[in-house]
Amino acid sequence: MAVETVDVLVVGAGLAGLHTASLLAGQGHDVLVVDRRRALDSGIRTTGIFVRRTLEDFPLPAEHLGPAIRRVLLYPPSLRRPVELTSPREEFRVADMAGIYGHALARARRAGARVHLGVAYPVDGVAARFTIGADGARSTVARRLGLDVNQHVIVGVEEVFPVAGGGAPTFHCVVDPRLAPGYLGWVVDDGRHAHVGLAGRPERLAGPLPRLLRTFGQRFGALPAATGPVRRRGGPIPVGGVLRRLVCPEGLLVGDAAGAVSPLTAGGLDPCLRMSEMAAAVADDYLRTGDASVLRHYDGAALRARFRGRLLMRRAMSGVRSPAVTEAAFTLLRTMPGRAAASRVLFGDGSFPDSPPSWATATA
Ligand SMILES: Cc1cc2nc3c(=O)[nH]c(=O)nc-3n(C[C@H](O)[C@H](O)[C@H](O)COP(=O)(O)OP(=O)(O)OC[C@H]3O[C@@H](n4cnc5c(N)ncnc54)[C@H](O)[C@@H]3O)c2cc1C
Repeated sequence: MAVETVDVLVVGAGLAGLHTASLLAGQGHDVLVVDRRRALDSGIRTTGIFVRRTLEDFPLPAEHLGPAIRRVLLYPPSLRRPVELTSPREEFRVADMAGIYGHALARARRAGARVHLGVAYPVDGVAARFTIGADGARSTVARRLGLDVNQHVIVGVEEVFPVAGGGAPTFHCVVDPRLAPGYLGWVVDDGRHAHVGLAGRPERLAGPLPRLLRTFGQRFGALPAATGPVRRRGGPIPVGGVLRRLVCPEGLLVGDAAGAVSPLTAGGLDPCLRMSEMAAAVADDYLRTGDASVLRHYDGAALRARFRGRLLMRRAMSGVRSPAVTEAAFTLLRTMPGRAAASRVLFGDGSFPDSPPSWATATA
């Protein structure tokens, strides 16, 4: 069989893979992207909540973004006396992810990347100078290149329902270790759709996720009685922090494959875009110079250190098993310092370390 040689093979056409591919193709490299999904509007895993910082720094297509959300309600297991936090700024927007992926795919192709869908890695007949693993939390590229692999993974599932609208767009978060051990249940209602989901540590979930989700939705009173969900989605979320060994002369990891998810909020869309910028800069330098020493700039240990506080908070959250302890923690959350701390986590500017956004300049 004839072997095709490419500069860069990007495995995974999620946001991390498509963004990295656009940047590298825009810099003149021969880039091939493969994804085992046959279409990017199928198999979507994410809720698609983009935070303010991402919306400010990356010009995402407005037509695929829902109404702004400023209001968050945090509920204890009893669902009584939620803590209400309202930001003066537009903090979140839920995206139509099929549209976002379609936009990113078109950008990558315009930049010159070839994108082959329905193709799984390893790919027969393709030899790459450099392989980028953007293949999600359970990365095959990481294993094949001998790089670090995510060890701490929670699993999430959600259903999306149409809603009539009317009320203020609101992000409801339910902390209940019986239903969502180590993480949260959520209902995000932006007036167009309600996303009803929950996530937790797989080994501590008390049953199959779809059944738990239904129990949660019914308890919360969030599931419309008559209509079924328009979409159901879910998947693994790495929450152990950025992996230490992310790069070698054969390739690197980006996005979920690199553990680039906030250990506390489990948000990965902002980190995967910012990390793609770093990955593309380092890969470009390496491919141009052949100097392997430039790869040390893609340093997982240094990135990981930025998340130390969040990793500690995650560990504490993950250890709580009793609803009574959670209720007691809400007593603290209702105080001024408690509310200030929660506002900092939810509305603050600290997400992933900055990198120069080139989303705008890579392709117009
Ligand atoms: C239920 C749920 C809700 C979430 N909600 C939010 C949210 O609202 N906001 C937020 O910021 N984050 C959220 N996250 C996290 C966020 O979605 C991810 O961090 C982000 O989408 C990761 O993007 P990625 O490109 O790294 O990986 P992915 O989007 O997972 O893309 C990986 C791609 O690789 C492909 N692939 C895998 N293996 C192979 C192979 N061997 N060969 C070829 N292709 C392969 C897959 O098909 C996939 O298309 C959520 C996650 C889950 C599970």
